[in-house]
Amino acid sequence: MRPIIVPFFISHRGCPHQCVFCNQMRIAGDDGELPDGEAIRARVAAYRGTAGERSVEVAFFGGSFTALSLVDQECLLAPLQPLRERGEVSGIRISTRPDAIDGGNLLWLRGMGVDTVEIGIQSMDDAVLEKAGRGHTAAQVVTACRLVKDEGLTLGAQLMPGLPGDTPATSLASLRRVLDLAPDFLRIYPTLVIAGTRLAEFHRAGEYVPLSLAEAVSLCKKLLHTALVAGVPVVRIGLQSTAELESEGSVVAGPYHPAFRQLVEGELCLDLSRKLTADLPRGSKVTIFCAPSRVADVAGQRRCNVETFRREGIDVASIVPDPDLSPLELRVEAGVICRRGNLLT
Ligand code: SF4
Repeated sequence: MRPIIVPFFISHRGCPHQCVFCNQMRIAGDDGELPDGEAIRARVAAYRGTAGERSVEVAFFGGSFTALSLVDQECLLAPLQPLRERGEVSGIRISTRPDAIDGGNLLWLRGMGVDTVEIGIQSMDDAVLEKAGRGHTAAQVVTACRLVKDEGLTLGAQLMPGLPGDTPATSLASLRRVLDLAPDFLRIYPTLVIAGTRLAEFHRAGEYVPLSLAEAVSLCKKLLHTALVAGVPVVRIGLQSTAELESEGSVVAGPYHPAFRQLVEGELCLDLSRKLTADLPRGSKVTIFCAPSRVADVAGQRRCNVETFRREGIDVASIVPDPDLSPLELRVEAGVICRRGNLLT
């Protein structure tokens, strides 16, 4: 059973940099104030009230946790210690920058119950990192990831395809270098142009063109496939929609979609279904079988995959949930023809 995550967004606080794409307040919908002990306890209690049998983990997202002053870090973690001791909180995760990590702070964090560190990597291409104003290099990412793994902590890696100077090839190369560092999970956030950022100025001046939605979906599909083949779960693709992000004028340009991941998973399923039906004559009627959790992905958003098949002369008579199939498998039947395929191949 997956744990319930109690999220706290610590916004830009503590971060000594200003990446060209960052406007944490708009992304996270937070005013930058750190929650006090009372607010932390109250939110954990509220989530515990709905958790049922599930364990509860606390996550400090956004910002750069280890760039906060030690006093601030302690103010955030200290209220959780009695909850950990009573078993009311089973884990704590933080996110931070690669150059704000050293062996000493990781040891201290582990002692305070932090078990997962997510690193904002964004790219492993130094030219892309420089254009993004990240203020760190790919070599620092390698060092930071090794330190997290050496400390026995769970390592999460965040990537941002579509930054200035990035290409599909450099995005894929970045992912491969990150996979070599053995992360336990990934998050992939295609770059958006958020109001109030330097990227918005570049965009206005015609110096930056973001990925289109179709390009971002296609690229993220390749990234997801590569990660799946490597056995590394991708826990999020695309920014989570918030009221601030959805408000008018927040996203100036770029591939924002509130169900971005479903678009990516849908295209992955379409590719495999097409492969399995490639040599069927036009006018064929097919039934596609998939894991129950995959039915919506196989159909595509608003049944766009079914419509694609129709345009290509294949009639998808039905999409049937089959509990014997794993979420990675599809089976296609057309008359006496029966074919099975795997998304990882
Ligand atoms: S390191 Fe993170 S918080 Fe700091 S400016 Fe960059 S994206 Fe924003």
